[in-house]
Formats: sequence, structure tokens, C-alpha cells
Amino acid sequence: MSSETLEFQAETRQLLQLMVHSIYSNKDIFLRELISNASDALDKLRLESLIDKDLVADTDDLHITLAVDAGERTLTVRDNGIGMSRDEVIQLIGTIAKSGTAEMLRKLRESKDAAAKQELIGQFGVGFYSTFMVADKVTLVTRRAGHTGGTRWESTGEGTYEIEEADDAPQGTSVTLHLKPEDTDDQLHDYAADRKIREIVKRYSDFIAWPIRMEGSDEALNSMKALWARPRSEVSDEEYHEFYKHVSHDWTDPLETIHMKAEGTFEYEALLFIPSRAPFDLFSRDGKHGVQLYVKRVFIMDDCEALTPQYLRFVKGVVDAHDLSLNISREILQQNRQIQVVRRRLVKKVLSTLTELREKDSDRYGTFWAEFGRALKEGLIDDTDNRETLLDLLLLPSTASSELTTLRDYVSRMKEDQKDIYYMTGESRAMVEHSPHMEAFLAKGYEVLILTDPVDEVWVERINEFDGKPLQSIAKGQVDLGASETPAEQQEEFAPLLTWLGETLQEDVKEVRLSSRLTTSAACIVGDAHDITPTLEKMYRAMGQ
Ligand code: ADP
Ligand code: MG
Repeated sequence: MSSETLEFQAETRQLLQLMVHSIYSNKDIFLRELISNASDALDKLRLESLIDKDLVADTDDLHITLAVDAGERTLTVRDNGIGMSRDEVIQLIGTIAKSGTAEMLRKLRESKDAAAKQELIGQFGVGFYSTFMVADKVTLVTRRAGHTGGTRWESTGEGTYEIEEADDAPQGTSVTLHLKPEDTDDQLHDYAADRKIREIVKRYSDFIAWPIRMEGSDEALNSMKALWARPRSEVSDEEYHEFYKHVSHDWTDPLETIHMKAEGTFEYEALLFIPSRAPFDLFSRDGKHGVQLYVKRVFIMDDCEALTPQYLRFVKGVVDAHDLSLNISREILQQNRQIQVVRRRLVKKVLSTLTELREKDSDRYGTFWAEFGRALKEGLIDDTDNRETLLDLLLLPSTASSELTTLRDYVSRMKEDQKDIYYMTGESRAMVEHSPHMEAFLAKGYEVLILTDPVDEVWVERINEFDGKPLQSIAKGQVDLGASETPAEQQEEFAPLLTWLGETLQEDVKEVRLSSRLTTSAACIVGDAHDITPTLEKMYRAMGQ
């Protein structure tokens, strides 16, 4: 069949533009991306062949080959893994399915600062497209394992790509980069040099579980040791970081590394990471969980939601459980008692790591909180077992200063006569600060927590107290400010006005009463102790409830 020219999706085109005019300084990483894809493809084929006994595929010598042609200035990365069908090539290579793409591109356009742009790109992780930083043409030939015909794809990265049948394609995928003309001033980045390629593989891909070989040689360039199975003392920070980048598709170093090993009745190893930046899709509906499941070194699944609760979806890494069946399904996994035990231990370990970080390095903890605090607050709603720990991890704005405070620090500043922890929810700090509810509290010198995340509305309803002190909204119910009762003569004096107001406003309010809570405003609206707040009402309405 003749070749067809197809257009990239608009967003892909913009992303490619950025890559072609490469603004990313560490170009070496394109090779890590290609090897990472090849390794994923080998993982997938091994798993599929273990589960599907009828799959006609060659799995004898699964490996990755690198071929350099200095004369032609080409570099080829080849794997004999799962491969792709024609439709998959169009789907996977021609479009970006990632949520948050449009937002990232908008931010990129708005950003003038080169360093900020690089960070955005790294955070997003452009994968296959990073090849266009170093190549002016990329050719991909692939055949899906078990299929007969293959597909050839080629593009210069400028808006369109060619696609055609390739009958003679071997099983798996090969990606050939036609390298940009040599920059004679930049010998360091000559990707047509054998030595350079070996060096990059050693640096970025040593832990890849499959042999990576130079064409014509049987010797593996990488050590192939599963990082999580090695003793902690033998693994360098750099190795941990590169592994993190492999599993997370992030280009930035992680904030924390957690390496665990459990022996006994249910053996497993876990290598988890807390990223330093939130991904774009942290709060999108189709956001993924970051932990992969392996069974005795065999990759089983990505995005394993059975291993981490929803609120810790930002934790990345690998769990290798030794005693599970290879074809365990997601549904069965959720019910598996041993997995539930592992999950509980992982949660405890992540939370204790965060607690330690908060105690020992408040700056770094502040970075973590700015990126993931909103997700962690969801845990106060769902994870009743760890509520106490989570409450201690909170950093909240308050009227005391512009800095965030822990609940414990708030309690230490409480006035002698103060029984409750006061808070107010609202849309913004300014709105809360200027609310008439606030007046009496500020006048009396009480500190009030300012809660402006929509999720705050939900968790404060679930948490009754901290350290024996009730949490009390200053906008709800009768707040006892220690003021004396409104004198009887005042009650009498205002009775006709109250009756009249109550009748006039009966459609809109439940009750009109005298109050000592205001100092300068004439009146304010107070919610019933069990009413939903205006912000929550808005949130529910937005959710269509
Ligand atoms: P990511 O790896 O983050 O999904 P990439 O841009 O690197 O993003 O790759 C996009 C998709 O293309 C992969 O998810 C995979 O499905 C497919 N793909 C890329 N390279 C290969 C390969 N060597 N073999 C099979 N599929 C591949
Ligand atoms: Mg990839």
C-alpha cells in the first residue's frame, strides 16, 4: 500500500515545535526516553506471553540494541518487544493523550524565562518527542508481536508524518534518529559517537532490567540489577534519581526516596519516591496512581491503585511482591488481604517520612506542602486510621502572620481563656479577613485559621478536635466569645426591631438575634451549626448536585 501523509494533532504540533527548536539544555535525556519505551515494550511482551499461551511471539532473547552509524549520522534504538499496530502508532505517536497538555502549552507561551520553560517541559515529560531535540528526521518501524504485517512511520517533526505498511518489519520497534548536523564546537554532545552512547546508557539506564547491547556485540552495557532488590548502602543517590525519572517520567530529581524490604510470610520490596513537583494531572479526574506492581521482577501493572490510597496518588515507584500470581487482575488485587497489609505499611512509611521531613527540614517540607498539601488534605476525609498523623502534617494560613502554621503551633499560641480552635472557610484570604465574622475575634486578639481550599470545607466537617480542642467555625452557630449575655434591657429595647426583621426576612433567614460578635459592622449572616457553607454550596453546585 502507498504511503499516507497525516497531520499531527494541534497540541502535538506545538510541542514538536518546541522540541525541534530545542530549548532543553540536557539533550542526553532523549536516549533515556527511547530506552525507557523499549524497556516498557519488553515488559509488556513478557507479561502478555506469560498470560496468553496462544500468543505467537518470539520471547527467547528479549533485549535492546543500539546501532550507531557515524558516516550516515544515524542512531537506532531497537527492541524486540510488544511493538505497535498501525492504529496504535497513530494513536500513541501522533497524539498526546496526557491531560494538562493545553495548560502546559499555555504556560510555556506565557513564560519568558528560559529556565522556567525548561522546568515546565521536564515536569510534563515529553517522552518520544524529545528525539526531535537531536534529530531532524525520525523513522520508526514496528510490528506488533503476534501480527504479520508491520508499519513504518517517519517525520521531520514539522506538522505531518508519513505512514505506510512495512511487510518485512521484525517483531518489536526500531527508532532511527537522523541526527542534526554535527556541532563542531560541541564534541560533548555528538550522539553519533559510540563512546558517548555508552556513557549515557551507563549514566541513565544502568538499572534497566533488559540487556542493552551495541549492535554486533553480545555484551550488555548495563548491569541490569533491579535497584529495589539491592541493599540501600550499595545504591547511590544518583542511581535512585535516575530510576525515579524512569518510573515517573519526571525530569526533576525526587524530593524523598523511600526504600523498604519486608521478609517473612509475605515478602516484598518497595522503592517509593515523593516528587519535588506536582504533575499537571494531580487534580484531574483521570489522574493516575504512581506505583507500579512487579511480581518477582516481572512487571505486572502501572497505575496500581490497590497499593496507595487516592490521596497519596502522587507517590511514585515500584512494589515487587513475591507471592502473587502473575495474572492477578486489578479487581482481585483490591480484595487481596496481603496487598491490603502492604498498602497500610506503605501509607505509614510515607507519612512517617513526611513527618520526619517536617521536623528536620521545614523548608523542604514547605516545598512539599505547596505542591501536594491539597492532595494530602483529602486523606483527612478518607483515611481515618491516620487522621492524627495527617492533622500534624497540616500547614494552614492563619490571622497570626503571613506564614503557614501547624495546628500544634496554633494551640501553643491559644489564649488562656480560649477553648476552641477557630477557623473560617472562604474563597480567598482577603475575603475571609474582611468578613464581618472576623471583627470580634480580631478585636479580642484570637487567632483564626483561614481555610480557602475547597477541600477544607469537607475535612473540617469530619474533624471534631485536635489535641482535645474542638474545631469551631467562626461563621457558624453560637460562638462563645466569653462575652456576657446581651443585657435584658437591650433585648427588650430591640424586641420590636427583631420581630419586624424576622417577619420581613422570613423567606431568607431562620432567626434574627442580637449579637456581641460584631464591633464595627451593623449586622452579619450566620450559618446554623449544621448548615453547609457558601463555598461548599458552590462546590456542590459546580459538581452538579
Ligand atoms: P510514555 O512513555 O510516557 O507513555 P512516550 O511519548 O515515550 O510516552 O511514548 C508514547 C507511547 O508510545 C508509549 O506509551 C507506548 O505505548 C508507545 N511506544 C513508544 N515507544 C514504543 C516502543 N518501543 N514499543 C512499543 N510501544 C512504544
Ligand atoms: Mg516513554
